[in-house]
Amino acid sequence: MSDCIFCRIIAGEIPAAFVKRTDHVVALRDTSPQAPTHILILPTEHIESVEQVKDGRLLGDMMIMGRDLAREIGIADSGYRIVVNTNRDGGQTVFHLHAHLLGGRRLTWPPG
Ligand code: AMP
Ligand code: ZN
Repeated sequence: MSDCIFCRIIAGEIPAAFVKRTDHVVALRDTSPQAPTHILILPTEHIESVEQVKDGRLLGDMMIMGRDLAREIGIADSGYRIVVNTNRDGGQTVFHLHAHLLGGRRLTWPPG
């Protein structure tokens, strides 16, 4: 059994609120939402971080899924943010690559 929480979610061993799924990418609701919309977009394959990505099309597919979800949820016009926290200083806590789709409120910049 994998000790990666996101691999276990993808394998169906841990429940999650999935919102979209393709062969290579899934989207699910973050259990600790930081905005009215907070969705995680992750590859089904275990890749630790963006540092290990070899195929840039995967990142494109993740971005497009985030954009499409923002449109479907109705936050595309008001705005949203798609971010990939990477390693310690980037604030990454789960080492299975994922993008955060955040929106539904005015997000501050610069981030903390
Ligand atoms: P990061 O800090 O960028 O690695 O983001 C990890 C995210 O995963 C955090 O926003 C957590 O709230 C979220 N998270 C942790 N466990 C779960 C889970 N079981 N289901 C959904 N989201 C989770
Ligand atoms: Zn994993």
